[in-house]
Amino acid sequence: MVLTKLKEIRDSQERRPRVSRDTLLRFVETRLQGSQLTPSKAELLEVLNSRVSSCTKCPHLARSRTQTVFGVGNPDAELMFVGEAPGADEDARGEPFVGRAGQLLTRIIKTMGLSRADVYIANVLKCRPDMPKGVSGNRPPTPEEMQTCISYLLEQVTIIQPRVIVALGATAVEGLLGVRRTMRELRGRWHSFNDVPLMITYHPSYLLRNQMLSEKRKVWEDMLAVLEQLEKPISERQRKYFLSPND
Ligand code: URA
Repeated sequence: MVLTKLKEIRDSQERRPRVSRDTLLRFVETRLQGSQLTPSKAELLEVLNSRVSSCTKCPHLARSRTQTVFGVGNPDAELMFVGEAPGADEDARGEPFVGRAGQLLTRIIKTMGLSRADVYIANVLKCRPDMPKGVSGNRPPTPEEMQTCISYLLEQVTIIQPRVIVALGATAVEGLLGVRRTMRELRGRWHSFNDVPLMITYHPSYLLRNQMLSEKRKVWEDMLAVLEQLEKPISERQRKYFLSPND
């Protein structure tokens, strides 16, 4: 309701209120917290997204980004996927995991019997890591960049309250847990982030580089463990995926 009113003010021809957008949003947040109205998760995420979109905590990234990439999906999701940072495709679209790795993530989610609209997808870093002029491709975020940005992800998790988080790749884990370990050390057991059970699996771009059935099966076993944790039904067909070369 408050957000609708703010949009009306923004779109009207009337003289604008003389306060910055940040001050206004903080005012709205305080009012929502203090009032009897319980803001929905979607509203809280929208307010947080507005703060993220004007963030300049990493001035080099604020200068180089096309836009921030906040997150996408169901604000009430039981399952949340977390990657490291947006790449060029995500920077252009403003949505996480839309490039080749994202398409593979979407296939994994569908194989689990879910859709992108059921889950929530975000990254540790909300800006694309900058690249030298004229150099294509993407670089991983630095530990400092991730440390600066992680509070936004923490807020997203606090709002959404998923039952399970899946971290995609060792860099995302470093951002979440502050530890640099190999996937061999990290996989195959439950961890936790902000008291939410955390499953660690390979980043989809690793699977694009390494097409071996054994690697696909490892990711799939991690996803079966996630489905079990969420108490979702698992078919015999699902249990057997990637055990034979026909998959
Ligand atoms: N890789 C990531 O970690 N995140 C994206 O959004 C895309 C690719």
